[in-house]
Amino acid sequence: MTYNFFEKDQFSPINYNYSDVVEIYNEKSQFQKIQVLEHPFFGRMLVLDGIIQLTTKDEFFYHEMLVHPAMITHPHPREAIIIGGGDGGCVREVLKHPEIDSVTLVEMDIRVIEVCQEFFPMISAGINDQRVKIVSQDGLEYLENGSFAFDVVIVDSTDPIGPAKRLFSERFYSLIEKNLNIDGVFVTQSESLFFHLPHVIKVQQNLKNLFKMSYCYTQALSTYAGNWWTFSIASKLIDPRKVLRQVDGNFRYYSPEVHMRAFLPDSIQNALVSGKLDW
Ligand code: SAM
Repeated sequence: MTYNFFEKDQFSPINYNYSDVVEIYNEKSQFQKIQVLEHPFFGRMLVLDGIIQLTTKDEFFYHEMLVHPAMITHPHPREAIIIGGGDGGCVREVLKHPEIDSVTLVEMDIRVIEVCQEFFPMISAGINDQRVKIVSQDGLEYLENGSFAFDVVIVDSTDPIGPAKRLFSERFYSLIEKNLNIDGVFVTQSESLFFHLPHVIKVQQNLKNLFKMSYCYTQALSTYAGNWWTFSIASKLIDPRKVLRQVDGNFRYYSPEVHMRAFLPDSIQNALVSGKLDW
């Protein structure tokens, strides 16, 4: 029986409505409502607390653009950590880099991992790789209670509301900076440049205070509110806007040209960081 799925995104000025949807699974985990929906155009959809996290139609744009600019910027990424990302999409992309020795996946809700292994095998399959270590814990707590030396840190969290809010804090970013190697690279999804401009400004300013280089790059994503999605990347050594090495990773969208063209022009980047950008 089909129905209209009305996305309830409290972090967005508009809400999207998807018609002819069939719900094929739902549960309430310890942390959130988890739904799996089918849509005639977007395919299978993962929904957490009423907000679309991914669709099988367009997830590769997001996962490739979140993961590869940071992985390519690092000269030899061996130790990576993904915070959030329980659907496995980032794990799948990180494992396309042959240098990788280990990927730590720190996802607070183990049920998201288990549901995605059942309903999104093409996205979550990499989670079973023997180089992947799953930690079911809050990402900030994990970094607070340990000392690490990561080459690449990737944050693939839900929107900055509820438990994900702390993953956009200055405290969290300073913990990341401390647990990154000298040539380490950090990247996070950082919401829509149009709908969430004050949030993106704050993320960029936090990163500028902590890292030698930090920039914003964007990607059009039709299923995320505001479409013009940002990724905030920071590096201790190498300029992430330059593509210094190539990986033949069977990417559906990412390429060196896409990588370089995704970054904001200097005029917009500077206005963003100075907080002068206003639209
Ligand atoms: N690509 C999606 C986006 O951009 O909104 C995110 C997908 S992924 C499924 C988001 C994951 O972040 C969820 O599984 C959620 O449980 C996890 N998460 C949220 N807050 C977290 C935290 N503080 N520590 C670890 N994982 C967290």
